[in-house]
This record gives sequence, C-alpha cells and structure tokens, in this order.
Amino acid sequence: MKIAFFDTKPYDKPSFDKLGGENGIKFKYFETKLNEDTVDLAQGYDGVCVFVNDTVNAAVIDRLCELGVKVIALRCAGFNNVDMKHAFGKIHVLRVPAYSPYAVAEHTMALLLTSIRRIHKAYIRTRDFNFSLSGMTGFDLHGKTVGVVGTGRIGRAFINICLGFGMKVLAYDKFPAKDLADNDSVKYAELDELFANSDIISLHCPLTEDTHHIISEDSLEKCKRGVVILNTSRGALVDAEALLSGIKSRKVGAACLDVYEEESDFFFEDYSGHIMEDDTLACLISMPNVIVTSHQAFLTEEALANIAQTTVENLVGFFDTQHCANELCYRSNGTEDVKNGKCF
Ligand code: NAD
Repeated sequence: MKIAFFDTKPYDKPSFDKLGGENGIKFKYFETKLNEDTVDLAQGYDGVCVFVNDTVNAAVIDRLCELGVKVIALRCAGFNNVDMKHAFGKIHVLRVPAYSPYAVAEHTMALLLTSIRRIHKAYIRTRDFNFSLSGMTGFDLHGKTVGVVGTGRIGRAFINICLGFGMKVLAYDKFPAKDLADNDSVKYAELDELFANSDIISLHCPLTEDTHHIISEDSLEKCKRGVVILNTSRGALVDAEALLSGIKSRKVGAACLDVYEEESDFFFEDYSGHIMEDDTLACLISMPNVIVTSHQAFLTEEALANIAQTTVENLVGFFDTQHCANELCYRSNGTEDVKNGKCF
C-alpha cells in the first residue's frame, strides 16, 4: 500500500520507515502541507497521512476522492482541521486518539513552572553572568486553584500532576467523568465558577463550535486579576486579541501557549530571518509574561513511537478488513458501513 505523507519533519521518518517496512506500507514523504494547492501530489496513492496543520477542507476531500484516495490517516488526536461533515459518506478518516497524554500534560506543567518561576528569564540572565534576582519573584503553586477545561486523557494527566503540587482543581467538562474524584482537592464546577475562582486556567478540550474562543474578552472579564492562561490544546480556543488586551491591562498575569489560532502559517517552520507578518503573535511573543512554544507538547520519543505504531496499525487494519477502531467517519458503501456509520 502506498501512502502520501504530508508535512513531514525529519523526526517523523525513522519510526514510520521502520514500521511501514515491517507492514508492507510505502510512505512517500512530502515536506509540504496538504491543501488545495498540493492535493494533486496524492495522485496514485491509496491514502494520505496528515498532521494538525494540514488543510482537509471540502475542496481537498473532493479532490482526494476524484484521485481515488481511499483513506485519510490523521497522525494526531484532534481533527478540527478536517471537514468531517463533508468527509462523511465520501472517504474514510482514521486518527490516533491517544499517543501520550503525559507528553502534553508534562509540557503544560513545564510551561507553567517556567513562566511563574521566571526560568526563561533566569536562563538568559545567567548565561550573561547576570546573577541579579530583581524581577524574578514568582509564586507557589501549592494551595493555588487550577481550572482544568476538558477532563479527558490529557486533562486528567494534568490534574494528577497538579495534585502532586498540592493544588486544588476545579474541573469543567461537557461530559463530566463519573470516576473523577469529588473531594476537597478536585471538583467539577460550572464554567463561570471555574473562571471566577481559578488562579490558573488550563485548556484540554477539543476545538469545536462550543469551545471556539472559550477564552474571550467576556470570559476573561469573569476571571481573577492575574489569572495565568495555559493553552496546549488548540489555538482557536483562545481569542488571541482578547488575550493580548488582557495582558496589556494586567488582567492576565501570564500566558503559556503551545498553540495559536493562526499557527498553520508559521509553526513548525524557521522564520528567524523573516519579518513577522502576524502583529498579534509578534506582540504576544514580545511580552515578558508570555511563553510560546511551537506546538511541541506532543514531541517526546514515546509519543512519536506511539503515533507511528497506531497510524500503521490503523492503515493495516483498514486495508485488511475495511474496519478500524480508530475511524472517525465511515464512508458509505451501501452496505454494513451505512448501518454502523457514525460521524462526530
Ligand atoms: P480526550 O478526547 O481524551 O478529552 C477531551 C475532553 O474534552 C473530553 O473529556 C470531552 O468530554 C471534553 N469536551 C468535549 N467538548 C467539550 C466542551 N465543549 N467543553 C469542555 N469539555 C469538552 O482528548 P485528549 O487526548 O485529552 O486531548 C485534548 C486536546 O488536546 C485535543 O483535542 C487536542 O486538541 C489537544 N492536543 C494537543 C497536543 C499538542 O501537542 N499541543 C497533542 C495532543 C492533543
């Protein structure tokens, strides 16, 4: 089976080459992202393998179908970049629902600690033999309240880390988990209660119509002065303009972003020799209390190995049996698929 692999980075190839070779899958690696301009590269392939910033809109889906491509294998969990309604009935979409929730949860805590203990400043200062501590005062996490929006795999892993620091957790989820402890340290709350009482807010929900700009001018208004905003989920959960205003007005004490609404234009690429065209991103990055990483929360050895393993298993399962447990949207073929068809 031949798969066109888009948005390839050097760290992708070793595990995909190894597992692909062992399972009869030939990956053709393209550095370019999949979009309307590049979709024709998929001609002659059985499937495409895409990541978070590839564009899988209606036009791309239609062209993939015309080219005879049977499957879109996402090598990530989130699928907000795929027009699922349009895909339904046309093409199979597989994903990797979990590869290492710990990678993302640990990166979230790394960002938080870096920010509030000024590690990013200290690293630069001491390299310049500047051992002054002025402006370096942080605050204890112990006893602080963290609001966690989304208590799925990553949210739960992050909650466990926070509990280890002696923090209190206010959780919000559209579908609360019955087995999440309800005690003095962890409890579910309504979103407004979470906004009003959290010292730190961390986003771990998917990007949907409900959650788009869940951090907005309105919601920031409801927050404590000095609130720390963490987003390692999807960029458009946060209205970046509203966040910037909140930083400027001092309502927001700090922000740590691994994702950004317009990240697909910049993230994963080296723009160090260019003029930054996105004023909001440039302004956010210039703030002393904002830390931006380039969608790297997932990037651990363990996660990369798991991503390759599950993607290859998904493809092998799909081409061998036409079924895959990690399928998001069944293609209608007039038989069993229609009866079991689901799209979410
Ligand atoms: P998950 O499916 O295990 O958990 C998501 C949780 O969000 C679920 O409990 C779900 O009920 C909840 N949810 C759904 N709609 C909601 C809403 N409207 N309001 C509040 N909660 C809602 O997913 P996960 O593995 O924990 O991943 C969470 C998100 O993290 C993904 O959607 C993805 O966007 C992001 N992610 C980022 C990276 C990265 O590298 N930065 C890597 C992997 C995943």
